[in-house]
Amino acid sequence: MNYLSTRGGMPPTPFTGILLEGLAPDGGLSMPESYPKITRAELAAWRTLGYRDLAFEIFSRFMDDIPAADLRDIVDRTYTAQAFGSDDITPVSALEPGLHVLHLSNGPTLAFKDVAMQLLGNLFEYVLAKRGEELNILGATSGDTGSAAEYAMRGKRGVRVFMLSPEGKMSPFQTAQMYSLQDANIFNIAVRGVFDDCQDMVKAVSNDLAFKAKYRIGTVNSINWARLIAQVVYYFKGYFAVTRGDDEEVTFSVPSGNFGNVCAGHVARMMGLPIRKLVVATNENDVLDEFFRTGRYRVRPSAAVAQTSSPSMDISKASNFERFVFDLVGRDPKVVADLWRNVDAGGEFDLAGTPFFARLSDFGFVSGRSTHADRLATIRRIHADYGVTVDTHTADGLKAGLEHREAGIPLVCLETAQPAKFAATIQEALGREPARPAGFEAIEALPLRFDVMDVDVEAIKRYIEAHC
Ligand SMILES: *Cc1c(COP(=O)(O)O)cnc(C)c1O
Repeated sequence: MNYLSTRGGMPPTPFTGILLEGLAPDGGLSMPESYPKITRAELAAWRTLGYRDLAFEIFSRFMDDIPAADLRDIVDRTYTAQAFGSDDITPVSALEPGLHVLHLSNGPTLAFKDVAMQLLGNLFEYVLAKRGEELNILGATSGDTGSAAEYAMRGKRGVRVFMLSPEGKMSPFQTAQMYSLQDANIFNIAVRGVFDDCQDMVKAVSNDLAFKAKYRIGTVNSINWARLIAQVVYYFKGYFAVTRGDDEEVTFSVPSGNFGNVCAGHVARMMGLPIRKLVVATNENDVLDEFFRTGRYRVRPSAAVAQTSSPSMDISKASNFERFVFDLVGRDPKVVADLWRNVDAGGEFDLAGTPFFARLSDFGFVSGRSTHADRLATIRRIHADYGVTVDTHTADGLKAGLEHREAGIPLVCLETAQPAKFAATIQEALGREPARPAGFEAIEALPLRFDVMDVDVEAIKRYIEAHC
């Protein structure tokens, strides 16, 4: 399996050649040359596989330049009951017949990003060791992504993580989760500023190409293709959990921000999984909902991004969206490059009235939007009707999913975080804090390890130099 760029400017490259890279050299995103097609016979055979065996089958199709025995070992070390709470890894529960929740947040940081990041940690360590190289991951976080990356990379040989976070701006729970890590290869840096300052510092360092090359600076952001493949597995697992035969169709509803999670559902569908609809659920930051309703893709300036109570979906543009548009326009890199020439210049594009817009339904996509008031109402209703507490992001997915529910078609809503991470909004909705999962009861009391820094690009460079 070779990979291409959505903008046509990358020679065919095997999986390990794109694993550590961010954008393709032409500014596009890597995509498989074609999707591996799963026959009905294969689907039937996969139905009874455990999570690890299923992950191995799917990864083998996309990562075929890693020897099978090595890949098997990586999968077996990643998806353990110890890391994910059970051998199911992503269990499914039923709220009522035909309405299901796919639990993706049983990993070490209680959010769905662990499913992909835990794999990335082991893949990075493996490939770096093979090459005798090291990597310094530099990132900025306002909470979720940073902690998932740190818990994935802690103790990994050849990898250091330098994570910038805004001082005093994260919840006590999130702060404790990140800063309590004592691993020698994890560096938490509390910046005296806001999240955008942290992000600007990362950009400035990455734009210093000489520094970037000398210190082998890398990232683990959501455009990483391996993260996407990792997420394909649970669409299959979820499908098998709620169907009996392989002709049945299922609809998935996905709380969406950067379009990584739901893009994995698109890949599963392209491989042949009988998915009826993919519901793209957004919060008030509805750039994706607007596109799927109207054909207009209008990136917001970062100042126009609302800070919401489902903060992990607060985005101005959806960084993986270009991957789907590549498929939508018949994989013509010239069309994609043209569209993103406008987007990258801060503009927009509009597919309304084009044949591309007419094809949207062929891909199963529909969308919905949820506000703070909707979120509170959904959390209350799910709690009242089923005795279940869901987190704010999952509530957005449930709201949009239920709007698109059809009789006779199982609806699977993806749970992307545990309510304990967003206690303030749960308190607002239900009048009490959510229960803490076992092992997290006293997390705020743990000793912390972090450094404080001004908004100063030279200071972070010196810090990295000093710790390499
Ligand atoms: C990152 C995240 C999302 C959004 O996922 P995308 O892949 O960016 O669409 C939704 N919910 C939670 C809890 C997240 O952490």
